[in-house]
Amino acid sequence: MIAGPTEGAPDLHAAIVGAGPSGFYAAEALLRKSPGIRVDLFDRLPTPFGLVRGGVAPDHPKIKQVALTYDKIARSPGFAFRGNVEIGCTVTVQDLTRAYHIVVLAYGASADRALRIPGEQLSGSHTATEFVGWYNGQPDFQNAAFDLSGECAVIIGQGNVAADLARMLATPVDDLRRTDITEQALDALSASRVREIHVIGRRGPAQAKFTSVELNELGRIRNCAAVVSACDLELNAASAAELADRHADESRKNFEIFRTFAATGARGAHRRIIFHFCKTPVRISGVEKVERITLAHSELQGAPFAQRALPTSMHLELACQLAFRSVGYRGRPIPGVDFDGENGVIPNRRGRCLLHGEPVPGLYVTGWIKRGPTGIIGTNRADSVETVQSILEDVARGPAVSKPGFAGLEAELAACKVVGYADWQRIDAAERARGEPNGKPREKFTAVCDLITAAGST
Ligand code: NAP
Repeated sequence: MIAGPTEGAPDLHAAIVGAGPSGFYAAEALLRKSPGIRVDLFDRLPTPFGLVRGGVAPDHPKIKQVALTYDKIARSPGFAFRGNVEIGCTVTVQDLTRAYHIVVLAYGASADRALRIPGEQLSGSHTATEFVGWYNGQPDFQNAAFDLSGECAVIIGQGNVAADLARMLATPVDDLRRTDITEQALDALSASRVREIHVIGRRGPAQAKFTSVELNELGRIRNCAAVVSACDLELNAASAAELADRHADESRKNFEIFRTFAATGARGAHRRIIFHFCKTPVRISGVEKVERITLAHSELQGAPFAQRALPTSMHLELACQLAFRSVGYRGRPIPGVDFDGENGVIPNRRGRCLLHGEPVPGLYVTGWIKRGPTGIIGTNRADSVETVQSILEDVARGPAVSKPGFAGLEAELAACKVVGYADWQRIDAAERARGEPNGKPREKFTAVCDLITAAGST
């Protein structure tokens, strides 16, 4: 472990790439375990907090409160936020390793897994990422447009992102008005005619990936019924064994919730969320835009916890005007760093980045780009602690040579407006003030240029 700055020893400089949860937890662990270290947290956006700002649904303000913890970390001595700097573009990873003793890649998994079925690219077929980014004011997705004029939407996938999408489509718009959803999204959702939201699982109710709290919420939306067919709750032996497992608490809770949904009628509900199980998407079709989706009934085969969905020749067609694929995220490579294209992660050993199986000195990884897009926000804390443990072991092995840290990037960043934490605090204050007249916690700036302007205002 690093004891702290010894007299005459050079300052230790760490750069973290990505200001989402895993980046903040890495900063926290470094600052806590290595007093005197300087930590620069980079983000390509002018705003910190990653998916807590741009991913967590607007109607989940409690989850967003974790940003208060990150704010506290950001106020620690030795910490600096360096927003609006894209690593791999304006500054390369090699520039960072030249200027910093420690570089931690924490840039998440921003790409989507593809379904690889015909019609996936039709107009009206979208990724969950686009919709989530759009309603959350993420600058990359503000030009996206969703035709909500049809009555029937399909969401492929049964994880928490699918739950977010279903809730946002099903929730009466008046229940969203006092959240931090963008005005643009509120306007579009106000005009929405969507009434049926089909949530498609290729496997069964015992394998759904929702957490039970999120699933339960889908049954509590005003004027909306959650619909499950009782015959879908008949389990094969392997699924029954999965539910009987002592580690399967969440799946058992989910199953009970599905039972409750099956027992409750949908009469009188303005909207319906309809769960489908053991249905594998085969194709999306339509003349110019989405008109229907073809699903194959699938059979579950394999041992408990290793069951796979095998599509049969029995098909079902569902008319729909909108299709979202919510089948998980994927990490993207960053220039100059080895990448495992199959799993969408950076190859690593306990957070040490590997090249040809050997650790790259000074280069580390944490969060979704380390382990894949799994777990909840808090999962990233343990992940980053593990990476920082590896860092501390490595640093303890030898005295650090002198490195300049942020000052060493002067040439690369000469033409950039680097957004610091005080700048972010100005953006934050301006957004809160904009939201206030409408009773919203904030009205986000949704364009990078507006964020930069707000950062500069006094
Ligand atoms: P996820 O939990 O991995 O769920 C992906 C879903 O897509 C699964 O149902 C999966 O089915 C299905 N799928 C994958 N490939 C498919 C294919 N080719 N065809 C049909 N279905 C396919 O991913 P996610 O929902 O994107 O969530 C990512 C992470 O963020 C999760 O850890 C989640 O808990 C977390 N998150 C948490 C919250 C919250 O706490 N409120 C909110 C949002 C996200 P199989 O099981 O058969 O693979």
